[in-house]
Amino acid sequence: MKIEVLRADITKIKADAIVNAANTSLLGGGGVDGAIHKAGGKAILEECIAIRNKQGKCATGEAVYTTAGNLSAKFVIHTVGPVWNGDQEKCERLLANCYRNSLLLADQLNVKVIAFPNISTGIYKFPKELAAKIAIDTVKHFNTAGIEKVLFVCFDEGNEEIYKRLLNV
Ligand code: ADP
Repeated sequence: MKIEVLRADITKIKADAIVNAANTSLLGGGGVDGAIHKAGGKAILEECIAIRNKQGKCATGEAVYTTAGNLSAKFVIHTVGPVWNGDQEKCERLLANCYRNSLLLADQLNVKVIAFPNISTGIYKFPKELAAKIAIDTVKHFNTAGIEKVLFVCFDEGNEEIYKRLLNV
């Protein structure tokens, strides 16, 4: 599995699946969530509402998928990152779950290329360096025959620098 880092708007990325840093309501929000719903159109929200009606809220660390609507990806994988609240051990575990569960879902969907934003490092205030370590570690330890490439899509310079340093690229 190849790992790449780039600085971009994830809604513009060509990948089979892009991951959304959603919230438990699945009904959209600010940050990358707002950008994905805005660019992808109402088909995404309609599927999110259908999921809500079926299973209720999405728990932190879990992942669900919908169409990508108007985006060039085939799927949006919505995962709910932890809000940084100082319980480091729990937050680390939940963030790792986000990456792992998104990759598991991607594998089931025969996704070859998946793009992740820096989950929890915006409004949810997870420390960026720690979040990047968890993201990279979880992706590197994920066993898959199907996924060929993981893109870490950084939106801010700070995250880009951290990922490039940790990955030696
Ligand atoms: P969270 O609530 O999980 O912290 P945010 O959307 O606030 O989610 O932030 C997660 C990360 O997504 C942050 O690093 C933020 O800079 C980044 N981000 C915001 N908009 C975009 C976008 N359009 N494409 C990629 N990343 C984005």
